[in-house]
Amino acid sequence: MKTQYICTSCHSPSYGAEKTRGSGKLAVGLWGVGLFFLLLLGPLWAIPVLIIALVYTIWMFASKALICPSCGKPDLVSTDSPVGMEITKSAGGGDDRENWIKELERGG
Ligand SMILES: [Zn+2]
Repeated sequence: MKTQYICTSCHSPSYGAEKTRGSGKLAVGLWGVGLFFLLLLGPLWAIPVLIIALVYTIWMFASKALICPSCGKPDLVSTDSPVGMEITKSAGGGDDRENWIKELERGG
């Protein structure tokens, strides 16, 4: 069963969205510089840069953050946590909290 989250910033319910950390452009840039060095200066210069590019790329894919799909902030709490329950009550869930979570399940 998926964990349901609520955003403490915008109070949107969701299952959370995965966001890759780091910059894709920077990774591409590092690979570009590595290849550039390889062509112009030879492997002695290119290898350290290519190693950095490789480590950075692996780190980027390995470290994913869970973010709110509505506002993009990483301020998600589980709806089952005390804070999450408070927010679901005040964010229009109220007594309808159970239905609200079921709606979320159907939608997600
Ligand atoms: Zn949000």
